[in-house]
Amino acid sequence: MKISDAYREANGFTPEKIADVVIGFYEKIDARSAEIEGKLEAGGQKLHCHPGCCGCCRDGLSMTQAEAAVIRKLFPDIGSAEPHPAGACPFLDDDGLCRIYRARPFICRTHGLPMRYLMTLRDALEMGVVETMPEGHSEDEKIELRDICELSSLDVMALPEADCWTSEIAEAQLAAMDACTFGDAPRVSMRSFFEK
Ligand code: SF4
Ligand code: SF4
Repeated sequence: MKISDAYREANGFTPEKIADVVIGFYEKIDARSAEIEGKLEAGGQKLHCHPGCCGCCRDGLSMTQAEAAVIRKLFPDIGSAEPHPAGACPFLDDDGLCRIYRARPFICRTHGLPMRYLMTLRDALEMGVVETMPEGHSEDEKIELRDICELSSLDVMALPEADCWTSEIAEAQLAAMDACTFGDAPRVSMRSFFEK
């Protein structure tokens, strides 16, 4: 991707400024999450997520370079702490709480919400989500998939579209931030913060 230095500077896509850009992005993500939660509550429904519930804090997760910059900015000393033992996210503490909660990556901010994914039938076939091409449809046609944490009792399929988090756009924005700031640098594993 060819981007001018002036464009990078103007948008904060530099290693020095990217953390603040991502923090602003997280504010929008959190506001949208709160809106969805509010709608669910108005309809008498509730997410199962609560402090100490941490089954989704798995080991082996990773984040973009830009998201890692936020953790380094807000928790510069976290790498000198002891990581949670293998089997769960290294940022978890002994009480099942996140030690970098304010700086947690995007994936952690939307986990637990009713999720809605849009993908082409072609991708769904390639990923094995759909076994055979349905008759009378084209591979370019988009299908909708939904998911929610298995601990939740919400009927995700019955929810209106607006009560679900639609994946795709935010991920694309994060990927673009990384491409503009760090080129094709690889994703950063959570555990790598603790490598001595
Ligand atoms: S960063 Fe925090 S919220 Fe995200 S998986 Fe790790 S402990 Fe859980
Ligand atoms: S996503 Fe699931 S495991 Fe994670 S906090 Fe919410 S209910 Fe608990």
